[in-house]
Amino acid sequence: MQTIAWFEELSSEDVGVAGGKGANLGELASAGMPVPPGFVVTVNAYYSFLEQTGLKDRIMEILGNCNVDDNEELNRASKEIRELIANAAVPKELADEIMSGYRRLSELCGENEVPVAVRSSATAEDLPDASFAGQQETFLNVRGSELVERVRSCWSSLFTPRAIFYRESKGFQHEKVGIAVVVQKMVNAEKAGVMFTAHPSTGERDKIVIEAAFGLGESVVSGAVTPDHYEVEKSTGRVIKMEVGVKATKLVRDENGNTAEVRLDAEEARRQVLSEEEIRQLAELGRRVEEHFGSPQDIEWAFEDGRLYLLQSRAITVLYGEEKEAESQEEPSEVLVKGLGASPGVGSGKVKVILSLEELDKIQQGDVLVTTMTNPDMVPAMKRASAIVTDEGGMTCHAAIISRELGIPCVVGTGNATEVLRDNMEVTVDGARGVVYRGAAKKKEEQVQVTQVASKPVTATEIKVNISIPEIAEKVAPLADGVGLLRVEHMILGIGEHPMKFIREGREEELVEKIAEGVRKVAQAFYPKPVWYRTLDAPTDEFRSLEGGEEEPHEHNPMLGWRGVRRAIDEPELMQAEFRAIKRLVEEGYTNIGVMIPLVQHPEELRKAKEIAREVGLEPHRDVKFGIMVEIPAAALVIEEFIREGIDFISFGTNDLTQYTLAVDRNNERVARLYSEKHPAVLKLIEMVIRACRKHGVETSICGQAGSDPEIARRLVEFGITSISANPDAVDRIREIVARTELRLLLDSVRK
Ligand code: PEP
Ligand code: MG
Repeated sequence: MQTIAWFEELSSEDVGVAGGKGANLGELASAGMPVPPGFVVTVNAYYSFLEQTGLKDRIMEILGNCNVDDNEELNRASKEIRELIANAAVPKELADEIMSGYRRLSELCGENEVPVAVRSSATAEDLPDASFAGQQETFLNVRGSELVERVRSCWSSLFTPRAIFYRESKGFQHEKVGIAVVVQKMVNAEKAGVMFTAHPSTGERDKIVIEAAFGLGESVVSGAVTPDHYEVEKSTGRVIKMEVGVKATKLVRDENGNTAEVRLDAEEARRQVLSEEEIRQLAELGRRVEEHFGSPQDIEWAFEDGRLYLLQSRAITVLYGEEKEAESQEEPSEVLVKGLGASPGVGSGKVKVILSLEELDKIQQGDVLVTTMTNPDMVPAMKRASAIVTDEGGMTCHAAIISRELGIPCVVGTGNATEVLRDNMEVTVDGARGVVYRGAAKKKEEQVQVTQVASKPVTATEIKVNISIPEIAEKVAPLADGVGLLRVEHMILGIGEHPMKFIREGREEELVEKIAEGVRKVAQAFYPKPVWYRTLDAPTDEFRSLEGGEEEPHEHNPMLGWRGVRRAIDEPELMQAEFRAIKRLVEEGYTNIGVMIPLVQHPEELRKAKEIAREVGLEPHRDVKFGIMVEIPAAALVIEEFIREGIDFISFGTNDLTQYTLAVDRNNERVARLYSEKHPAVLKLIEMVIRACRKHGVETSICGQAGSDPEIARRLVEFGITSISANPDAVDRIREIVARTELRLLLDSVRK
């Protein structure tokens, strides 16, 4: 019964001992491929831990009594098990063996305590290839004795609510699912990327395609940069194509193992990543790996200190044959499903039906994502999709908002897409008209968009954009004059843990860095154009489902409850963390950030928010512009008092302003017909506030959905608003209507 196994001792047969990931790395290392050195803490070690601590029976008993369909029960069982594991010391003999492996690895790398990546590698005994991808923990930059603790955390991650639920729903027996842990030297890449040993889109087997960028490979995999693209003829080794991309940024790893994005100057961004010699070396490695596995491979690689490392290799599952070309000549006509056109544009690709998060890996670049409804965990996969189709949802559902922001065609509310559409069907999605056709359309979209951008009219009223996903900032920055609303809620939902959990566990710094990381992306992409960051405004019901969110109070009406600035005043730690993140960015030279306080109803709240900023050394008005959302009628009615208290700007949150003015719940479809931002009472409040602000030289803007409505935009220009912030997909249309309105006003004044 081995506790640890070195990569060289393992092969792809050893999934039962080393898990899928461990066995794959073992196979590559044993075949002499340049895998970063490491070992696997075997599944046996995990079982032995359970036996020796007597936890096994206890865990099975808890699981046996748990109804996983009851969320609360599931969370409780998970928590109980994970606490049991966290409190059980790893038996000395096991810990010693793990540490002796680690010391040997350190020696091998010529270091005292080599930093390692610690990754879970799960396995099911009877189904060796079960996909548990992404369910279990990974820890980067682990050093020294903390390793044993991290290994135990990986074991514990087999019992997150999500993992338990997945096994139950797929009919796996809990006791038959084991977990190994991969311990591997960290590679801090100077250059990295992917390689396909057959052309991934044409299917040509004699071509090797390489995509490369500076820094860590994640920026290539996630599509954050335009990588260099090289092609090599497999039979001759000749480099037949070299296209140098513009890599605006690179990802690097700091000493704590955190990934940071660094902006490249114009010259570096256009520099070729790999020399011809390196391309050949890489292609040769690709050829060997393909030969070893006997099928085309999708490979992740990296160069560190001039050494080439192979990080991962998988078979390319879908390879198009020549037949694809013939197929794509036809214009599609047969309608397969219909729904609401939620994000305009036309996208074609192969259908991938996603019924659970574990299937997200199925989505390759350019596929059509079909699912019941998207959620924040799906965003990375959504970015790879050429179009998105959902069974459920309306125009403001998650899929609709995010795909508009990502600029991906989307059809929501089809009712039956997940039943009618089948994996690998070739379809075309028309996101404007809400239709999905059989077959692939020819591409015409891009050219149209370019001409639109080129003819962008100049307007006196600034046209800004609302952003919730920092990753889109780079793409939309050229379209807009700034960010009128940077929402943090989505970023935080994406972290997956309740922000208060970070604070409670003394991990505030981690939270600060996560927020700073997201905001930095946006501030950098738009610099020097202004970016207004809105502090957290999360109703208690929306954040309850996050890990650590169980303590959120149950409120009778969360919309009128503990959210926005009122919560920040009672519980200032979160707002302090947000301000620390902003302060960090100001110190990094991002002088373009503004701070916006949501849901204020009395100037006292503004004063308190400023005090919280000062407590962490961020000086309102000096370091950052400081403003408020006008989204409660009270704030509109006493706007003069807010101006006296001191504000640089206001922004209308018309989504809330409308619901609170008209007493219509914005989320209740039963009263939706009464909900209108065009109601004279709402427009009157807006006009009144703009007039007062103009008198005192305070900037005015709008960031509610109404800013994307051409008719309201026209009225706002007539009222004299300073800027309008629209959704990314509406920016061009709003710019046009604003330009027309301004010209009309000018003409009218001349003709008078
Ligand atoms: C609004 O209320 O209009 C707004 C922009 O904020 P949210 O939609 O996030 O409440
Ligand atoms: Mg609001």
